[in-house]
Amino acid sequence: MPSIYTLAVHAGERGPRPDFTPVSTAVYHSVGYLYDDMETLDAIFGGQRQGYVYPRYGSPTVHAFEQAVAALEGAEEAVAYASGMAAVHAALLGAGVRAGSAVVAAADVYGATYALLDTLLGEMGVRVRFVDIADLTEVAEAVEEERPTALLCEIVSNPLMKVADVPALAEIAHRAGAALIVDNTFATPYLFRPLDRGADYVLHSATKYLGGHGDLMAGVVACSAERAYALREQQKLLGANPAPQEAWLALRGLKTLPLRMERHCANAITVARWLSGQEKISAVHYPGLDIHPQHEVAARLFGGRGFGGMLSFVLRDATQSDAFRFMEALNLILPATTLGDVYSLILYPAHSSHRQVAPEVRATLGIGDGLVRLSVGIEDAADIIADLERALHTLT
Ligand code: PLP
Repeated sequence: MPSIYTLAVHAGERGPRPDFTPVSTAVYHSVGYLYDDMETLDAIFGGQRQGYVYPRYGSPTVHAFEQAVAALEGAEEAVAYASGMAAVHAALLGAGVRAGSAVVAAADVYGATYALLDTLLGEMGVRVRFVDIADLTEVAEAVEEERPTALLCEIVSNPLMKVADVPALAEIAHRAGAALIVDNTFATPYLFRPLDRGADYVLHSATKYLGGHGDLMAGVVACSAERAYALREQQKLLGANPAPQEAWLALRGLKTLPLRMERHCANAITVARWLSGQEKISAVHYPGLDIHPQHEVAARLFGGRGFGGMLSFVLRDATQSDAFRFMEALNLILPATTLGDVYSLILYPAHSSHRQVAPEVRATLGIGDGLVRLSVGIEDAADIIADLERALHTLT
């Protein structure tokens, strides 16, 4: 009879293999995996057999999430990460970005993506050129001149909502032998599948719409099987894997992605139209509005399913303290530093998402003192508008 010390360690573990299939994927927290014999383990290590050996090499709950994303994005495979930023980094490395190579990137990408390129990768010897992604002539010239390893853009940019013409960008990138990386966080596969239209990598901050409930952090890259193989080899060395609990939450979030996106889109167009009619608002950036510069591109790419849940607007002649006062006056809309949740969320880009971007660069990007970004949630649109209306009254 083993002692209580031994029993405490082993009792209850490793019961018989189940003869049932759970309807919902289990959360596998185990770091180790046992097989009937060492030959099987050896074959899995050697890649001749599918299986799990260690979570940095892949794990069952994470794999389930990866398969779901691959299916939704129309990809052969997907690889999950601990955050959206880890996914951005992985896609760049996966595309072959190294010291001495060049990247052409949209100038108004998420602030940390900008800083990753501009500082860390720049310091490591990567040449980075930022372009206005909506100006295809400028993009084509930069790509011809730089001959980059990768062209990187966000499908809808943050926070100015410029829409990337992915088929045109794919042609420009491929003509120069570059890979096109599309951050599809804002559109999600509900609106658009970049791989179908020429992109080589599509990535997400799954912390946002894919998860959808503001309770997890994860990222994911979807691509061809060949590219995914390279990403997995890279992941074994860099170890930016998500935890199984996060992957499970993200997988659960995916189940309602189309339902949530449908509602986000319907609410956002209603709110954008209302904001456009307000005296105290001097500009509204939303691809669903006819006056938006890439409205036609968005309509063509998103196929009538909507224009997303993200918009930004400018409080007329507002200083930073006016903008803060407006945000503090909101009750329903939460001033939290994220987006894509079921909740409506408001953010001040100049001090949060774009804090790492130098003030003079922010000014050239059009991120001024009066700009606020709204992630329109799935509440009732009338309640969201009532909250905005009340807070606008606090501005003189
Ligand atoms: N990509 C976009 C478009 C984002 O908005 C964000 C974060 O806000 C990221 C990537 C980074 O994602 P994460 O915060 O999960 O690292």
